[in-house]
Amino acid sequence: GFKMGIVGLPNVGKSTLFNALTRTAAAQAANFPFCTIEPNVGEVAVPDARLDKLAAIAASKEIIPTRMTFVDIAGLVKGASKGEGLGNQFLANIREVDAIAHVLRCFEDGDVTHVEGRVDPVSDAETIEMELMLADMESIEKRMQNVVRKIRGGDKDAVQQERLLKMALQALENGQPARVVDVDEEDAKAWKLLQLLTTKPVLYVCNVGEAEAADGNAHSAKVAEMAAAQGNSHVIISAQIEEEISQLDPDEAEMFLTEMGLTEAGLDRLIRAGYELLHLETYFTVGPKEARAWTIKQGTLAPQAAGVIHGDFEKGFIRAETIAYDDFVALNGEQGAKEAGKMRAEGKGYQVKDGDVLHFLFNT
Ligand code: GDP
Repeated sequence: GFKMGIVGLPNVGKSTLFNALTRTAAAQAANFPFCTIEPNVGEVAVPDARLDKLAAIAASKEIIPTRMTFVDIAGLVKGASKGEGLGNQFLANIREVDAIAHVLRCFEDGDVTHVEGRVDPVSDAETIEMELMLADMESIEKRMQNVVRKIRGGDKDAVQQERLLKMALQALENGQPARVVDVDEEDAKAWKLLQLLTTKPVLYVCNVGEAEAADGNAHSAKVAEMAAAQGNSHVIISAQIEEEISQLDPDEAEMFLTEMGLTEAGLDRLIRAGYELLHLETYFTVGPKEARAWTIKQGTLAPQAAGVIHGDFEKGFIRAETIAYDDFVALNGEQGAKEAGKMRAEGKGYQVKDGDVLHFLFNT
C-alpha cells in the first residue's frame, strides 16, 4: 500500500489529525482487521462514492474500500538533522513513506504553546524543509565515500548513483530541495532508490481554527501562495473539528458539517489530495459477494493491476474483461454492459483507467 507520513513541528496538531483519521467511523466500519497497526500507524479507507454506487447496482453483500496508510511522525524540531529531539528515528521514518503531509499551525490559540512563540506557518515550513535538506546533504556525503569505493571496484550501478547524488547535492547546496532536480526517465528508478527526504512529494495541511475550516484564514492564504510557488498542493483543515466529527455517527457528522458550512469532511479531502499527489488511481472488482476498490499508480498495465490483488493473477494473466465505470452505471451492471457491447477484452498491454470495473482471467 501507499504511505503518507504526517510531519510538522511539535504542537501543530499532528496527533489530533492522526487520531481523527484513524478513529473516523469510515475507517472503523471499513472492515479492517487492524485499523491502527501500531500506535502511530493507521490505515484509512479512501472515500469513493463510485464504490457505493457499483455495490448497489450489483447488490454486493460487502463493500471494501481501498486503503491508504498514514504514519504520525513525531519529533521533528529545529536541529533534528543533528540528532536533536528524536532526530534519527524521525528521519528513518520519513525515508519509508511515499509522500509527506506537512501539518502547519495556522490557528491562533494562546493556550497552545508554539515552539517559536508565534504563529508563522511559512517560516515553520521553511524550518522543517531546512532540516530535511540538511539531513539529505549529510546522508549524501556519507554515501558518496561508499559509492566511490564501489566505482573503483568496477560497480557500474555506482557510477549512476554517484552522478545522481551529485545532482541532488548541487540542488541542496543551492538551498533547494532535491525535488527540483529534473531526472530522466532512465534514472527515475535509481533516483527513487536514493530515498532522499526532499524528493518526496509534499502536501501542506493548513490546520486552521474551528471557525475558519470552510475558507481558511490569512495564515493559510500565505501557505497556499507558497505551495503554488513550489508546485506543491495544500488543504485547509481544522484538526480539532475533524477529531470531533470522527466521534460522531455518519448522520450526526453530516449535520455537523452542514452547520459548519462544509460540504465534505476535511479528512476526505486530505485523503483524496494525498491520492492525487501520489498519482494514484482506483479500479474496481464487482460481484454479488463484494464490491471492492483497488489502488494502482496511473499508467499501470493490466497484469500489474491484477498483481495488486494477488501475485498469481499477474503471473498467469490472460486478459481483463473491462467495463468503464460510466458504462457500468448507465447500463445497470455487467449483464447490461455485455449486451450493449461495452465489455471489452483487454490484454497485457492495456493501461488500466481510473474507474474501470475489471474481471481478470488467469491461468493457475
Ligand atoms: P502535535 O504535537 O503536532 O501532535 O500536536 P497535537 O495534535 O498534540 O496538538 C497540540 C495541541 O494543540 C493540543 O492541545 C491540541 O488540542 C491543540 N490543537 C490541535 N489542533 C487544534 C486546532 O485546530 N485548534 C486549536 N485551538 N487547538 C488545536
